Amino acid sequence: SIELQGVRKTFGRNEVLNGVSFSVAAGEVVCVIGPSGSGKSTALRCINRLEEPTGGDIRLDGESTLSMSVDTLRQRVGMVFQQFNLFPHKTVVENMTLPLRKVAGLGKDEARTRAMAGLEQVGLAGKADYRPVRLSGGQQQRVAIARALAMQPEAMLFDEATSALDPELVKGVLRLMADLARRGMTMVVVTHEMGFARSVADRVIFMDRGVIVEQGRPEAIFDDPQSPRLQAFLAEVL
Ligand code: ATP
Ligand code: MG
Repeated sequence: SIELQGVRKTFGRNEVLNGVSFSVAAGEVVCVIGPSGSGKSTALRCINRLEEPTGGDIRLDGESTLSMSVDTLRQRVGMVFQQFNLFPHKTVVENMTLPLRKVAGLGKDEARTRAMAGLEQVGLAGKADYRPVRLSGGQQQRVAIARALAMQPEAMLFDEATSALDPELVKGVLRLMADLARRGMTMVVVTHEMGFARSVADRVIFMDRGVIVEQGRPEAIFDDPQSPRLQAFLAEVL
């Protein structure tokens, strides 16, 4: 489980997170929606400490992440970004073995075996020795997801994982994420894909200006929004 307790983050005088609290149970999928600049990415980045929270606490299975080593935390919680962040000069399989060796400390053979198993899972074993540039954006993103999964994390964070993709490539990546959800992965998904949020999320969180304005089952959020801010947001995006 992941638990945010009154998380605050300020950049200079800009209060980006103003006491954000929510929890994600093991196996649960939570989608975070909200306008640009509302703090969605910052909240996600605080979870695996790409940003250090200014206040509050974040717990992973009850243990404060703020006192964990960053390497341990990032093995336990995988993250996937809008930009795939693959190393262009390394092959697909090298992109996967690198963190397995450096962060997880696996030996060469074990890292390779695990990387290949991960590529198999996302249907890209045949591309193991390609450089990322020879793959479509959708394939690159599936490699990035496989790379995170190869760490065998207990939870996964997705930040607009399909926003940089050509429209025809979006579906394949969303399907992979939905499969992962179905197989019981604990997930926090920041997304503009309202269809995905509606069909895959157990719960949807609506953020605006650094706070959670409303959260609930997808049907409640999308079909019966309570707050004027959520109503206005949905009128814009749906
Ligand atoms: P979007 O939907 O556009 O991705 P978001 O909800 O993810 O938006 P954040 O990226 O979390 O929003 O940004 C929230 C606010 O924090 C913005 O005002 C942004 O300018 C500010 N911010 C984010 N990162 C930094 C940083 N490293 N330094 C200074 N300000 C930042
Ligand atoms: Mg963002």
